[in-house]
Amino acid sequence: MNCSPAHSRAIDQINASCYDPSELQRFETRSEEETIELGRKIASQLPKRAVVLLIGNLGAGKTTLAKGIISGLGAAAPEEVSSPTFTLIHEYGSAYHIDLYRLDHAAQVAGLGLDEIFDREAVVLIEWGERFPELMPAERIEIRLSAAGGDVRVIEMLD
Ligand code: ADP
Ligand code: MG
Repeated sequence: MNCSPAHSRAIDQINASCYDPSELQRFETRSEEETIELGRKIASQLPKRAVVLLIGNLGAGKTTLAKGIISGLGAAAPEEVSSPTFTLIHEYGSAYHIDLYRLDHAAQVAGLGLDEIFDREAVVLIEWGERFPELMPAERIEIRLSAAGGDVRVIEMLD
């Protein structure tokens, strides 16, 4: 098992024993289903309380990965997880899924009361949170997703 940083691993080679909280982990998925499965594996590595920024362009797979993470946490089934584009915040018990795409100003974000959510014992997944870095907690996990041709997605996790 190669656990070196930034080494690309196929989905079936992901092993929780490789987890080093300070390393960059790099994965590739080849379908929506593989991204959901990766989300489940990431869920098993997360502490009970975590803020996770999902960073990537529209269609990169942020919401798909959130489905996997939330289902891996046992908070909801993947098909119950929908994009919070319009409602901004979805709560699934111990998991929150937030999408700040439609907000333009920090004052709008500040009005959502995110600090109170960050204080809870919950995993908080945020799409487009990197647009408001001053409102995100310093202690956070960042997952960057990018399309790499066809259905391939490169997914990098920095803890
Ligand atoms: P985002 O939230 O980043 O805008 P979504 O997760 O909503 O992205 O959508 C990703 C889209 O890309 C979906 O239509 C999905 O079917 C498609 N897709 C194709 N390949 C993949 C992959 N490897 N991982 C995730 N989604 C994929
Ligand atoms: Mg989305």
